[in-house]
Amino acid sequence: MENKKPKIILTGDRPTGSLHLGHYVGSLRKRVELQNTGKFDQFVMIADLQALTDNADNPEKIRQNILEVMLDYLAVGLEPDKTTFFVQSHIPALYELPMYYSNLVTMSRLERNPTIKSEIKMRNFERNLPVGFMTYPISQAADITAFKAKYVPVGEDQLPMLEQAREIVNSFNRIYKCDILVEPEAVLPDNASCNRLVGTDGNTKMSKSLGNCIYLAEEPEDIKKKVMSMFTDPNHLRVEDPGQVEGNPVFIYLDAFSKPEYFAEFLPEYSGMDELKEHYTRGGLGDVKVKKFLNNVLQAELAPIRERRKMWEQKLPDVYDILKAGSKKARETAGKTLEDVRRSMKIDYFDNDNLLKM
Ligand code: ATP
Ligand code: MG
Repeated sequence: MENKKPKIILTGDRPTGSLHLGHYVGSLRKRVELQNTGKFDQFVMIADLQALTDNADNPEKIRQNILEVMLDYLAVGLEPDKTTFFVQSHIPALYELPMYYSNLVTMSRLERNPTIKSEIKMRNFERNLPVGFMTYPISQAADITAFKAKYVPVGEDQLPMLEQAREIVNSFNRIYKCDILVEPEAVLPDNASCNRLVGTDGNTKMSKSLGNCIYLAEEPEDIKKKVMSMFTDPNHLRVEDPGQVEGNPVFIYLDAFSKPEYFAEFLPEYSGMDELKEHYTRGGLGDVKVKKFLNNVLQAELAPIRERRKMWEQKLPDVYDILKAGSKKARETAGKTLEDVRRSMKIDYFDNDNLLKM
């Protein structure tokens, strides 16, 4: 019987801004693909509590981005009858579980987390590091385990978080002699250039906080402007100079988005990526030509997403209702896990009269 249950997927995004190409290739594209297999029970969370860990002084920003992120989800093709959408702060189990889990994690373990380390550095917290920010990996373990999720489609920056979640699951099941928590695993993008998509400025990660993004909802002229001013190989000064494709953001984006049919449509003089890269490396191929091709590719990829978003923007009350209904369902699902947890820890004092049996 047990094996017949659908496998559960959980992921989320911080409502700190609109979603961008990094989210798309790192996680959203995979979520849509998994959703459409019909084999999984998928939950997608708007992580407003996690967003507050470094935006406590600006809750309005988080609030304004809740429906924005929902629109991005629907725009990329996540569907309310196949995926459950919810808001993190609406699920009390997600802040009760970290209370129990935090006793299973040492401070030094948190401090060793490479993602936390680099995020702290990026935000210049110094001595003003919020406790909530430091402990968000524990909260993230609660998000995943509350839904008993097996699969978490994410970019590579999230691997240390998954590792931390597995450690908590193992400690919990061992200490409380149970097997109620499920060990999650990451589902990374199929293509290595998507694991951590670089920014338009060549920075190692496209990130809302770094302002180096192309957003999914971006208008065609703005996409073009951003592509044409993208960072490339700094040593490729003249068309005839040999160029480098490794680490070159324009080629990284092409690896992430180009399909053979785009060559036939927009650049028929090349058979495919190999020939294009070979020409660039040899010299004689200008950045402008490659950027124009990339612009055509991105316009083709983003047009249907933008159209779907505009359609949903006309129906905002429906979007709101989808999120509200999803949050109710998620609250029930996570509440059941919380009951399992409290039972395993034997702190379910008033659910039975075991306390009287000295
Ligand atoms: P913030 O700057 O507020 O942290 P962010 O742009 O890093 O925002 P998150 O909401 O933290 O975005 O990330 C949500 C999901 O998108 C995660 O699964 C993360 O791995 C993935 N992701 C974000 N940026 C990228 C990227 N540049 N490349 C690949 N995946 C990404
Ligand atoms: Mg992030």
